[in-house]
Amino acid sequence: MLQVRNFIDGALVDGSEGRTFEKRSPLDNSLIASVAEASRADVDRAVLAAKRALKGPWKKMTLAERVALLERVADEMTRRFEDFVAAEIADTGMPRMTAEHMCARGAANFRIFADVVKNVPTECFEMATPDGRGALNYALRRPVGVVGVICPWNAPLLLMTWKVAPALACGDTVVVKPSEETPQVAALLGEVMNAVGIPAGVYNVVHGFGPGSTGEFLTTHPGVAAITFTGETRTGAAIMKAAADGARPVSLEMGGKNPAIVFADADLDAAIEGTLRSAFLNTGQVCLGTERVFVERPFFDTFVAALKTAVEKLKIGPPSDPTSRMGPLISLEHRAKVLSYYAKAVEEGATVVTGGGIPDMPGDLAEGAWVQPTIWTGLSDDAAIAREEIFGPCCHVFPFDTEEEVIERANALDYGLSAAIWTRDLARAHRVAAEVEAGVVWVNSWFLRDLRTAFGGAKTSGIGREGGVHSLEFYTELKNVCVKL
Ligand code: NAD
Repeated sequence: MLQVRNFIDGALVDGSEGRTFEKRSPLDNSLIASVAEASRADVDRAVLAAKRALKGPWKKMTLAERVALLERVADEMTRRFEDFVAAEIADTGMPRMTAEHMCARGAANFRIFADVVKNVPTECFEMATPDGRGALNYALRRPVGVVGVICPWNAPLLLMTWKVAPALACGDTVVVKPSEETPQVAALLGEVMNAVGIPAGVYNVVHGFGPGSTGEFLTTHPGVAAITFTGETRTGAAIMKAAADGARPVSLEMGGKNPAIVFADADLDAAIEGTLRSAFLNTGQVCLGTERVFVERPFFDTFVAALKTAVEKLKIGPPSDPTSRMGPLISLEHRAKVLSYYAKAVEEGATVVTGGGIPDMPGDLAEGAWVQPTIWTGLSDDAAIAREEIFGPCCHVFPFDTEEEVIERANALDYGLSAAIWTRDLARAHRVAAEVEAGVVWVNSWFLRDLRTAFGGAKTSGIGREGGVHSLEFYTELKNVCVKL
């Protein structure tokens, strides 16, 4: 069986207390790996190694040398693309095309941030002084220090590198705690770091769980200067409390319950295709995914019928089948949560347009975490499934009558991650985009990402923005130097 190890100070190592935990396949619940769990002492070693690396060769490197190394990381990830895809698929069960997309983004993250730090200008202000000689202010960016990186399981490589790449580009060092559900790609990235010559201690990985385990050991460690987290809002709040001890900055990318707003003048085919992807891609386990679909009343029946047809064509199956478009959920535990919402929807009186249960899967796959993609109608905005993040392949479709009304309903929740607007009316698209309370808004598209743009959530969906130069705000300290002339 595969042994997944921690990566500390440039070496793949077991946990010092010898503890391991099991990783099971979402496809059939079979045991696929034994993962070394890091102890508090291991986390301490990783943080100390990261602190040493900060002062060592990593610090002495010129920006050009660091950028060249990050580009080599991207090249090596591309060379080992198949290994990353295989590891991502093994941990998550996602279809191959989804894993390929995510692994390509992993390498792209290193390239974009290498480019950002290479090209970012700095500010300079000339200043008058009473003696007439004047002064010059200029800003320098300096690394923030050791960054604690806490990751979720839904897009393991993409989301981890979205944090590790800018941190390294800014000259920080990192200790990463991958999700306990998806440990493999973080260890593989350690091999890549060694292969291209990233100095030992710059990138470290400690495996384990959250409270009372590695996650807590890392976020409460006084040697960690800043914490970046992606995951549930509740967990983000706990991490914020841990960071308050020591007044350390946090960057939090958290949950959502994102709306799609479809006006009657929308291109039906595009709106259906976009909504299908946004609700069901990665088995609905996408933070930016749509779980609330608001459709203008004259278009409602046509839209629901077309979405139902499209969903029923989605091929559910294992990644070994190239025609699979939807894999299982991440685990049986997560499936129990999703199914509890499926049951709640029925209890609350929803019309189940399609799905609502567990698909019949052949052979060993019957033991896996499969669920049917599901569409509901008929509930009010107060229903639990209309308010709480389910993180499964499901959405509720609601009719609406006016632009004003739909904006109010879209904004009614505490979440504010993303929104999609479907209309041919350009003025309306701009009006609604300006009013929707979300960090990311798409018009006539979904998940179209330019990595230079700001990414993050409004309200309880996030604190801070990452992407392009925005990442520098978190991963560097901006220092003003005032020179009297
Ligand atoms: P989660 O919050 O359960 O876990 C995320 C990570 O935090 C895991 O590594 C976990 O071990 C760790 N953790 C848990 N408790 C901790 C604690 N007290 N201290 C330190 N670490 C702790 O989230 P998940 O179930 O892995 O991921 C799904 C969630 O992530 C969804 O809510 C989804 O919306 C969100 N998400 C958000 C974004 C975004 O960009 N906003 C992206 C992807 C996923």
